[in-house]
Amino acid sequence: MIIIIIGPPGSGKGTVSERLAKEFGFFHLSPGELLREEVKKATIIGKEIQRYIEKGQLVPTHFVAEMLKLELKGKKKVVLDGFPRSLEQAESIQEIKIDRVINLDVSEKQVIERFAGRRICSKGTHGYHLQYLPPKKPGVCDEDGTLLVQRQDDKPEVIKQRFNVYHQESRPVLKYYQKKVQNVDAGKSPDEVYEQVKKILRL
Ligand SMILES: [Zn+2]
Repeated sequence: MIIIIIGPPGSGKGTVSERLAKEFGFFHLSPGELLREEVKKATIIGKEIQRYIEKGQLVPTHFVAEMLKLELKGKKKVVLDGFPRSLEQAESIQEIKIDRVINLDVSEKQVIERFAGRRICSKGTHGYHLQYLPPKKPGVCDEDGTLLVQRQDDKPEVIKQRFNVYHQESRPVLKYYQKKVQNVDAGKSPDEVYEQVKKILRL
């Protein structure tokens, strides 16, 4: 069973994928992660990727698609997280039989609220949440005493921007897979979202 999980930033794709991997033995395939690993291991492919990155270019779709196909070989249960993001990418893996596409549907407003309370220390090491994981002393990191700040990616204007890009790119992808798409209300709690996903997959 090969599943694609799709959703805007902050919809919880990674969390759902990890839980499926842990509980049901799905292989969690995140192409971004895969690329980073190849670079780190300095394989032939990794060096090629490095060259694109150094030139400030995107790694070509066909290249990522070939890597994915290799990685998918022989694996029976896979959750694909973060790919395809565009119609071009979807078409690049058209020979792979996709069983289900889970669309984590969450509004921009909900993600902005979800991220509003997140803080990180100035060293960029320790994460907090004003509501769920507050520091002992307001505004200061428990571990190193540096000031807590909001991550750039968590700011409303940045989230709005990323949502726009996401919707433009994902609309044709959802249409491409329309018969396989199942919508999940990802505005709910992580547990509720996960339950919805399990139900769809009959797990
Ligand atoms: Zn810290």
